[in-house]
Amino acid sequence: MTKPVKTTCPYCGVGCGVIATPQPDGSVDIKGDPDHPANFGRLCSKGSALGETMDLEDRILYPKIGENTVSWDDALDMVAAGFRETIDNYGPDSVAFYVSGQILTEDYYVANKLMKGYIGSANIDTNSRLCMASSVAGHKRAFGSDTVPGLYEDLELTDLLILVGSNLAWCHPVLYQRVAAAKQERPEMKVVLIDPRRTMTADIADMHLAINPDSDCHLFMGLLAALNDAGTINQNYIDKHTNGFEAALEEACKLTSEEILKATGLGQATLNEFYDLVIRTEKTVTLYSQGVNQSTSGTDKVNAIINCHLATGRIGRPGMGPFSATGQPNAMGGREVGGLANMLASHMDIENPQHRDLVQGFWRSPTIAEKPGLKAVDLFKAVGDGKIKALWIMATNPVDSLPDGDAIEAAIKACPFVVVSDILAETDTVRHADIVLPSAGWGEKDGTVTNSERAISRQRGFLPFPGEARADWWQMAEVAKRMGFDDAFTYAGPADIFREYATLTTLSNDGVRDLNLAALADLDATEFDALETVYWPARDHASSKGKRFFADGGFFTPDKRARFLPVKAPIEIERASTEQLTLNTGRVRDHWHTMTRTAKTARLSGHLAEPYCEIHPDDAEARDIQPADLVTITAATAMITVRALLSSRQKPGNIFVPIHWTDQFASSGRVDRLIPPLTDPFSGQPASKNVPVAVKRAALHWHGFAVTRDLPTNIAADYWAKAKCDGGWRLELGFATSEANLATAAAMACGEDLENVSIQYRDKATGQQTLLWFHGDRLTAAVFLARRPVSVSRIWAVDQLTASHFDLTARSKLAAGRAGLDQPDRGPIVCSCFSVGANEIRLAAQSGNRTLAAIGKAVSAGTNCGSCRSEISAILEEDMPLAAE
Ligand code: SF4
Repeated sequence: MTKPVKTTCPYCGVGCGVIATPQPDGSVDIKGDPDHPANFGRLCSKGSALGETMDLEDRILYPKIGENTVSWDDALDMVAAGFRETIDNYGPDSVAFYVSGQILTEDYYVANKLMKGYIGSANIDTNSRLCMASSVAGHKRAFGSDTVPGLYEDLELTDLLILVGSNLAWCHPVLYQRVAAAKQERPEMKVVLIDPRRTMTADIADMHLAINPDSDCHLFMGLLAALNDAGTINQNYIDKHTNGFEAALEEACKLTSEEILKATGLGQATLNEFYDLVIRTEKTVTLYSQGVNQSTSGTDKVNAIINCHLATGRIGRPGMGPFSATGQPNAMGGREVGGLANMLASHMDIENPQHRDLVQGFWRSPTIAEKPGLKAVDLFKAVGDGKIKALWIMATNPVDSLPDGDAIEAAIKACPFVVVSDILAETDTVRHADIVLPSAGWGEKDGTVTNSERAISRQRGFLPFPGEARADWWQMAEVAKRMGFDDAFTYAGPADIFREYATLTTLSNDGVRDLNLAALADLDATEFDALETVYWPARDHASSKGKRFFADGGFFTPDKRARFLPVKAPIEIERASTEQLTLNTGRVRDHWHTMTRTAKTARLSGHLAEPYCEIHPDDAEARDIQPADLVTITAATAMITVRALLSSRQKPGNIFVPIHWTDQFASSGRVDRLIPPLTDPFSGQPASKNVPVAVKRAALHWHGFAVTRDLPTNIAADYWAKAKCDGGWRLELGFATSEANLATAAAMACGEDLENVSIQYRDKATGQQTLLWFHGDRLTAAVFLARRPVSVSRIWAVDQLTASHFDLTARSKLAAGRAGLDQPDRGPIVCSCFSVGANEIRLAAQSGNRTLAAIGKAVSAGTNCGSCRSEISAILEEDMPLAAE
């Protein structure tokens, strides 16, 4: 097959269109789809590298029971029997599904139907709970429905874009590029970044408000009062379309200016400047993301933001409105079909008896869940308490992503019956499964996803299912049939499921519910296959083109009015001691979630190759932490060890640790282990930020850096982190051993034998050591050891794996750990697309290339996907943190 196939990127909620063209040699050519309304041909570094993640290494290809490969029939019979037996003995609430924003809408629909309509429990929740549940709760409280009012183009049309708790440059890069391009065209457009860290998104910001974590409510309550004081409120809109303004304003006015300044940590002048900017700018969009949602006050933050938009009537018109940017590719699709434990399908409510009757009647199901099920954190607590005895986890890795990761792992281990459907055999969750089912991955499976702006796009398969992999919906339908529910789960393919779901959205829906896909309810398989991106509501042809909501009211509450929420400012989280720092978590540019896909590519792994902690130099100095030291971070639940990256971009008193590293890629880098299981009271979303922690230098005597052609199966070191590189693997190492045992320990860590070492070099003055192993003129492994973090250039050392070392000079340069003059050190990779290092960019800048365009022309960096452009700008400003290179 070499025909180009239009599909959708499987990573973030931007939902970019991709054109995938399988090549005769088995590779896949990936391009952005110029016709897709989310990206118009752009892709970020992750999307561009999709073709490099499609190998079958570590894939689960056959069903397994324990260690044994079995037939699908045997596996499905056992799954059905396990669930049936548990339900018969302990009732429907003794079983649960934990699904994912990575699965397709059709998979979600079948999972939800089976659990809520046939098993009769609502114990189905999704990892989207960790991402945007507070936005859902905030939308429902204000609008009566989970409706995103605006469109991506509003981010370009606005005069003021306020980014709250969103590192758009790294987490939604194509949206960032769209905003950056709009701002370049209209420099008068203002961007305000609200984030404790001066992230790369600050590159396009006119103002950066480095507020204290979880002070967003204070900030936006103060804004509501300021808008009122300035007479900027839209009384006509408030009177015609809303309820509760006075109560919300009264609550906001209770906050004194001193309280706002103390909570946020801002100065009065900065606060005034921000408020004045909002007051005088009609066309305002407030885009918020996980910095808002992942909090014990996440839902209140969302409503504090929405209150300001309702008060000014700045909603649902071009360039105006609150906008929730979802993290995952199909978080929205899951919301639409009831993937959350507290929702029914098609934006209907479990607690509404009419909705229950409607859905049950449509499904002709024997039962229907009558109360909300357990949300993710409570669900796994119930697994740990033994209340849930059969658990099916699909396309997600909760051991690495849920708070209190050690407790989650213990709960899964103790659960009597665990089924995991996934694509990779080696994840920290799969290893605890009783039954493993091989799922189809991106490029193989077929269905739809919905992005953050309500655009439904097709994800199309362009490769055959490998081995015996099967679609998730098929697995659930087969189990349902074996549980005795044949008639309701006989689907020929995803088109059948989509049609059923679209029809359900239309039932008794003369405008009382936002989600109505009437225009898509009759698609046959051929039409479904050819479906172009459509927006909901797709009630008719016109409304599927991208409609905004609420400019003229029409909310989905009983009286059609929006509700202001009298939000209260949250109480500050207490610190055990003033020595503690505040841990915030998030994503890096080139990795996705628990790295199961992105760590397969050397290109993406080269950007940030080990888990790290971004810390302000003052906080580091106070703890005697030097650049690139290994540090321990201790919370009430656990301790991890990561690399220190000193950066004045970090707010003093705060640290940042990325979420991605798992036990597969680092000895102790799982930040989820540090997060306590605290949740927002309305949404149940865990607070993955604002965690008190202690940070100190790790007690290791030796540091090491190694490159190896073959990865050792067990890396025996007190600290390690591994990343793929061209020609093999790179390893960061740490040892607590004495010098006498160091060489043996280092050789073992690299999977080599000290007896066979080709060159062993020890600098008498410093004690630094190098061990090299060659096969012919090729390097097979090199390890560099030092008392302090090893200063060898990583990218130069990696290049040695593919270089020839036939003469002694080349080998002695290697032993000395130095690039020769003929091989200048490229520095850490900044541009993944063209493998351009920071030093190359600096050199180009020093030669007079002082703009992004000039750098692009000189060394190509930033000229493909553009994801690194903010980092190039930072280098141009000589403000790039490089400690953990
Ligand atoms: Fe994929 Fe990047 Fe687009 Fe997100 S912004 S959908 S990760 S290409």
